[in-house]
Amino acid sequence: MPWRLRFDWDCLIVLRRSLDAVAPNEGCALLLGDCGSELRLRVVWPCCNVWRPGLQGLEEQPGCGDGPRPSRQTRFALDPREQIAAQRWGRQRGLHVVGSAHSHPGGEPRPSSNDRRWAAADGVMVIDAGVRGLAGWWMERSTAGPASAPATLAKVHPLSLVGPEGAALGNTGLSVHNSRCRTSDDGSAFGA
Ligand SMILES: [Zn+2]
Repeated sequence: MPWRLRFDWDCLIVLRRSLDAVAPNEGCALLLGDCGSELRLRVVWPCCNVWRPGLQGLEEQPGCGDGPRPSRQTRFALDPREQIAAQRWGRQRGLHVVGSAHSHPGGEPRPSSNDRRWAAADGVMVIDAGVRGLAGWWMERSTAGPASAPATLAKVHPLSLVGPEGAALGNTGLSVHNSRCRTSDDGSAFGA
């Protein structure tokens, strides 16, 4: 199980700006990278949030909602066709889809119960909560039971985020201003 995710700066900028562009809706993207001894993010593949009520496989659990009425402001879904296209594009370049990213406008950068329930496979989940920080998580589905089982939540492990030179960004807040990146300490670790 990986414990670190290395970012190239251009990926970080594309990620944050593409997710922010659709606020207050949740934005989403696929993440392509190397799967060697260390996870390295090479390409961010912005996607449309195609969530809609009743979407197959993303059924709501009674009493497990994250707030008021579900909408694209609190839910996201990736188009499976985008995933196929990204996989195909990456394969030609020696890259793999290592996971996904999405935003939590106004929320915290940690997986919600629905994020954990709907995680279909082991992989990276990066969550951008704007000023509350950016955090990376390894979603472990393989030992938690199938996503089709209604009550099964993927296990969640924090990933250490590092820049291209290996400087630790930590699993904390991160701000991007005018193409420059800096860390802040307003993030919080997963505690649920
Ligand atoms: Zn989420």
